Amino acid sequence: MPDVACVNGRFMSLAEATVPVEDRGFQFGDGVYEVIRTYRGRPFELEGHLARLERSAQALNIPQPYSSSKWTQHVLEGIKRAGYPEAKIYLQITRGAAPRDHAFPANATTTVVITIREFHALSPELQNFGVSAILIDDLRWRRCDIKSVNLLANVLARQQAKQAGVFETILVKDGQVTEGAVSNVMGVQAGAVITAPEGPQILSGITRGLVLELARKDGIPVQERPIPQSDLFCVDELFLTGTTVEVIGVVKVNDKAIGTGRPGPITQRLASLFRRATV
Ligand code: PMP
Repeated sequence: MPDVACVNGRFMSLAEATVPVEDRGFQFGDGVYEVIRTYRGRPFELEGHLARLERSAQALNIPQPYSSSKWTQHVLEGIKRAGYPEAKIYLQITRGAAPRDHAFPANATTTVVITIREFHALSPELQNFGVSAILIDDLRWRRCDIKSVNLLANVLARQQAKQAGVFETILVKDGQVTEGAVSNVMGVQAGAVITAPEGPQILSGITRGLVLELARKDGIPVQERPIPQSDLFCVDELFLTGTTVEVIGVVKVNDKAIGTGRPGPITQRLASLFRRATV
């Protein structure tokens, strides 16, 4: 079977999967999600993703439909059915289908969707030479720590990246870098890794957490503080972290070179430690 979906516990091909028009995910973006990838067929950091899914659902008062062992069972079953060498797993819980009204419905049952598609890793050239980005205003709401399916500001940001022919948009709020539209952003200055602290302004990336842990263990100092926009062009190195981008150097922002214009030594070191952690 190629792309696989599991809707409310029932497996089918993704092409067959549907949800009702009155699902609140469709009408209001009233839902939460996770994206996980596999390495050598095994879901990476599944526990961390499931814990974040739980936190996101709890923050929005969406009942958690499955125990963590049931999620795991479904995810493993989906990976097996799809049979891809590497897969991208999408989990989504919405508040369910109910007659359209903004306030929570009295008796809705959550809609649970899992999709499994083939994962294509970034090319080694991007890893070696780094990527470019643009800076844009962070238009998102004040609970970016919740991984909500309400992604309109991120959609607009990604479209701007596409039109500008760059890899990512770096979001700036009140003069400070928050994160990327689909990644966390880290700078390196005087040998230390600097990145926005956890809190409502950013999504606490699973990759971010792992990379900071790897940095600390490796003796690389970490400062969890936002990078001021005015410092962005003075950093020695800049890189992104995320499930789909792993650790990737940013070598150009708004057409200006960052550091030497090549991924720097700390970026390369952390990318290599990260790759080792995936084995
Ligand atoms: N920030 C945002 C806005 C994201 O969408 C993502 C991708 N999930 C990340 C950061 C990186 O998070 P993770 O490392 O958990 O994939």
